[in-house]
Amino acid sequence: MGGENIPHHCGVFGIYNHPQAARITQLGLFALQHRGEEAAGICSSDGDELHLIKGQGLVGEVFNDGSFDRLPGNHAIGHVRYSTAGSSILTDTQPYKVEYSRGQIAIGHNGNLVNAQILRAQLEAYGSIFGSMMDSEIFVHLIAKPAYRSHEEGIVESVKRVVGAYSLVILTEEQLYGVRDPHGLRPLCLGKLGDSYVLASETCAFDLIEAKFIREVEPGEVVVIDRKGVRSHFPHKGMEGMGHQISQCIFEHVYFARPDSRIFHDNVGLVRERLGHQLAKEHPAKADIVIPVPDSGTFAALGFSRESGIPLSFGFIRNHYIGRTFISPTEAGRSIKVKIKLNPIREMVEGKRVVVVDDSIVRGNTAKNRVKLLRGAGAKEIHMRISCPPHVSPCYYGIDFPSKKELIAANQSASMIRKFLEVDSLGYLSLEGMLAATTQPPSHFCTACFSGKYPTPVFDEQDKLKPENKKVKCRGA
Ligand code: SF4
Repeated sequence: MGGENIPHHCGVFGIYNHPQAARITQLGLFALQHRGEEAAGICSSDGDELHLIKGQGLVGEVFNDGSFDRLPGNHAIGHVRYSTAGSSILTDTQPYKVEYSRGQIAIGHNGNLVNAQILRAQLEAYGSIFGSMMDSEIFVHLIAKPAYRSHEEGIVESVKRVVGAYSLVILTEEQLYGVRDPHGLRPLCLGKLGDSYVLASETCAFDLIEAKFIREVEPGEVVVIDRKGVRSHFPHKGMEGMGHQISQCIFEHVYFARPDSRIFHDNVGLVRERLGHQLAKEHPAKADIVIPVPDSGTFAALGFSRESGIPLSFGFIRNHYIGRTFISPTEAGRSIKVKIKLNPIREMVEGKRVVVVDDSIVRGNTAKNRVKLLRGAGAKEIHMRISCPPHVSPCYYGIDFPSKKELIAANQSASMIRKFLEVDSLGYLSLEGMLAATTQPPSHFCTACFSGKYPTPVFDEQDKLKPENKKVKCRGA
């Protein structure tokens, strides 16, 4: 994780028909831990009843050996979550399980709905009583409507009403569902482990459990897995003309996903390497070494080094153990946090002209502190290179970027940022250059935080800051 302390969002996992369903789910969640470190949960089904354990903390902290006696059954879903400040309460962790007239259902959600306030207000007006502040709970209320005859019909009909980002795993007593929004904003993959089917946000979870990757759940697809096998619904079919174009989150490739995963039809590590190649072409530098900001800057730095011929040097060492616990509201505290997290190797950087490759600059303070560290270690020149374009707009689809007024690039030009960071040069990758790093058509990606062009209607900044909007956290995943 390079970047500027961008919070991770969520990861989901599901398995159907395995005698060790909950244990396998825990392994899947271990592999997806990078997508959310605040809370974890597993819900299993024994065919008659759903069983749930969830709690705050890392996967290894929430579950112990005794947990699995309380998670019986051959089917399970799991969730790891990042939660925004103030919502770290147990009711806001997932999977979210309820009982209603057609039985029991549990849901794990990665993404963020943009019409959550409106839907919640409508549902409450008709008597729904919400048990959490999560936008994800809206799905459950929509599914529970008496008009539907089965879980399946409820799920297929409900997703037509929500707008925004959602990759879902849903468990009922006898079925597992995988659902992806029509834009495909967040990833979701389908795999097979012996006779069992598995779903996961990223394929790195399949590697760990030795499952075979079958395919990605398609944007707009509802996959149903039960004793009859696997079948699909496409509830949004025919709605392409209503703005339902594919818009996968390009920032998953730049920063969030693990480099050993395959998402959106590409390996993440290779995409990052190509970002680095392109960055070196667009913003060459005369320097002695290229150093990555670990971990997510590593592959882009490798690409930069290969393209430029400047040797790669691991001049920053990351402390992986600081975790979620050290949070300081003061500037002095934040700079200590940067120091705890990354330490430059003086012997590698002293007297050198250094290219630093990072994946993003958000507020600018963390990057500035890193530059100070490098200067303190004796770097002669510092050339900062960023493997994506400047972040100028917030994300409404589940990535917790700050508001526009806190995004440095929304308010300052590249030359002002360069002066603020006190670097000798600064280069951001172009939008076209970033999109060219994947094998997919550029039009298949969301670039809203770089371009301000959102694939769905969104609340504007004003709406978002209104106190009435703050009552409902739209960061349920
Ligand atoms: S706005 Fe940015 S971070 Fe959010 S989904 Fe789009 S590309 Fe991803």
